[in-house]
Amino acid sequence: MSKQFVDGVLAKVMAHDGVEAQFHQAVREVLECISPVIDKHPEFVKMKLVERLVEPERQIMFRVPWVDDQGEIRINRGYRIGFNSAVGPYKGGLRFHPSVDLDTVKFLAFEQVFKGALSGMQLGGGKGGSDFDPKGKSDMEVMHFCQTFMNELFRHVGPDTDIPAGDIGVGTREIGYLFGQYKKLTNTFTGVLTNKGLDYGGSQARAEATGYGLVYFATCMLHARGMDWKGSRVIVSGSGNVAIHAAEKARQLGAVVVAMSDSHGYVVDDRGIEIEEIREIKQVRRGRIAEYASLRSSAQYHDGPKGMWTVPCNMALPSATEGELDEAAAKALAGNGCAVVAEGANLPSTQGAIQILRDAGVSFAPSKAANAGGVAISALEMSQNVTRLAWTFEEVDARLKKIMNAIYDRCLAAAEAYVGSQDLIVGANIVGFLTVARAMLAQGIV
Ligand code: NDP
Repeated sequence: MSKQFVDGVLAKVMAHDGVEAQFHQAVREVLECISPVIDKHPEFVKMKLVERLVEPERQIMFRVPWVDDQGEIRINRGYRIGFNSAVGPYKGGLRFHPSVDLDTVKFLAFEQVFKGALSGMQLGGGKGGSDFDPKGKSDMEVMHFCQTFMNELFRHVGPDTDIPAGDIGVGTREIGYLFGQYKKLTNTFTGVLTNKGLDYGGSQARAEATGYGLVYFATCMLHARGMDWKGSRVIVSGSGNVAIHAAEKARQLGAVVVAMSDSHGYVVDDRGIEIEEIREIKQVRRGRIAEYASLRSSAQYHDGPKGMWTVPCNMALPSATEGELDEAAAKALAGNGCAVVAEGANLPSTQGAIQILRDAGVSFAPSKAANAGGVAISALEMSQNVTRLAWTFEEVDARLKKIMNAIYDRCLAAAEAYVGSQDLIVGANIVGFLTVARAMLAQGIV
């Protein structure tokens, strides 16, 4: 009965929402996992909770005109989706990248609903962004774009309504400009954005939280297999905020990070990648990862990021972007004896890749659980803003570790209780769905 019901909802979403392939994949993954929950809760069917859950509460699209350094008028499109606020205010990052469209923002916002619920921090789900590309733009151009973007966004966000944060292309610089404009427009100084700089309300360990949290989560997976980081070969895709901090923490715990990538290619260093060097190249100089190989004789650079998955490793942490780990990559990882894959990016693995990894007995953690550390520490940033307190790095990091351990335990317990397995994908989707569904049920038809 419930499988039929879930298939029916999925068919309606696909018919209703046209060509939104990424959103369909995200919905499919959740719905395919929740049949056993639906079986036990006929009230969810009666109250049309699943049908309500797959419909965003609101979607905002707007024009962002700005003037570049040459005096040319440029026009981009801005988005903000508030997907679900049953558990807390909308929360989720802003992404500035030429690939951003409604489908991207919608699937990310949907994922964020479950991530917020899994974090246990009373957060709803939202996401936003623009097809603006900060790469190659001057600081002035980025500032003007951020100000114009906020000229519309400020009407829809607020510290108790919707709290954006960073994502691809939105780092400390962009958050600073967005925050400054929000403050000017509203005449308030509030915690409306997270990922702020430490001098004006940012939290210690927020920059590190997603990457460190990913490693804390993966530690639970390793221990379940009787493994440890010490001496393990790890590959980390990407070299942005999430990837750098995941690699840094893995290294601190004794792992040898043998490969990292950017959108142009990847580097291999069997002696272990020097993370500080990568940070300097990618975050300070905004350069290409290829430069690393010219600085280290033990390193080689390869064109194109996809080949990185063929580098033999014990663990892989895909931390760059959606769909980067495809079936060929999964086969290569499994064939080379990789035992653990934990997703740092949002939906980096395709459905086919996940199936291959599962069939090969690789432990797999989905992004909504494994990368929830960022949003969890954003909630701690919000708490510090309200109380005007600033906790130490050690305090926040200790809380992060506890939160990630708790998410892992809850996912595992749900998988064991509902399907009698240790499947973290099933567990994460069940815990996230149950939390949101119960909150929606309690709040009536709104
Ligand atoms: P950044 O913009 O800081 O970094 C993205 C990195 O990925 C860059 O190094 C980029 O390279 C690289 N990249 C892009 N496409 C590819 C590709 N096809 N193959 C290899 N590398 C690629 O973003 P974040 O680190 O913040 O985000 C990364 C992922 O993590 C995203 O999926 C994001 O949604 C997710 N995430 C981020 C959170 C956060 O707190 N920041 C929280 C939760 C999830 P290049 O420099 O060449 O563009």
